[in-house]
Amino acid sequence: MDIPRIFNISESAHRIHNPFTSEKLAALGAALRLEPETRVLDLGSGSGEMLCTWARDYRISGTGIDMSQLFTEQARLRAEDLGVADRVEFIHGDAAGFVTDEKVGLAACVGATWIGGGIAGTIELLAQSLRAGGIILIGEPYWLKLPPTEDVAKGCLAGSISDFLILPELLASFGHLGYDVVEMVLADPDSWDRYEAAKWLTMRRWLDANPNDDFAKDVRAQLTSEPERYAAYTRQYLGWGVFALMAR
Ligand code: SAH
Repeated sequence: MDIPRIFNISESAHRIHNPFTSEKLAALGAALRLEPETRVLDLGSGSGEMLCTWARDYRISGTGIDMSQLFTEQARLRAEDLGVADRVEFIHGDAAGFVTDEKVGLAACVGATWIGGGIAGTIELLAQSLRAGGIILIGEPYWLKLPPTEDVAKGCLAGSISDFLILPELLASFGHLGYDVVEMVLADPDSWDRYEAAKWLTMRRWLDANPNDDFAKDVRAQLTSEPERYAAYTRQYLGWGVFALMAR
């Protein structure tokens, strides 16, 4: 069981697999005013940077589950490096339907809401692991401005314009699901560049090291087209943020 190989190559050097810098991740942790010993669940935990740094900085404990074997291994190594391996555990697996035995104070899905079939389903899934009064974290894209055509939406790698909302509508949609939005931290063009442009050097290095790999022509095609596609579409039209929610 694993995710498509292109991500395990292009994001192999990322600690954060989202348009957030380590500064923004730290700002989010501070904004949440986490109490020490808060239990955290993270569906689609990637390389574990959120759980590991928050365990170090705010003394939380937690569980992450991720479908990428590589990212999960990196998360375990990161926990060792930061001296928090006794506070966080990382499971390699499908997070769809995953519910904790013990309730958590913070239940997160940051940039992987397809795990619950969309935002509403993911909130419902996370809510099953959440103690009363706990916080749900959702990381999700939104339109900075509405794409003028479906082709522009596809250029942003969205299936269609209707895949995402503009920010005020996204915030309102959480209200319609019965949740207060109690905090948010948003990506910006510089933090987007850290996520997207970092893939290019990783892909180039991978190509130089693996010229005869069967997958090399796919990686080459991506590296050739991605900078221009990103600048023309994603960077112009797509926002991203993490939203903290509490049930009304
Ligand atoms: N939250 C992390 C990773 C976001 S990228 C971060 O912010 O760094 C999306 C992650 O979802 C990837 O790590 C990918 O491996 C994982 N993923 C995709 N489908 C999944 C599934 N069904 N179950 C668990 N993880 C999944």
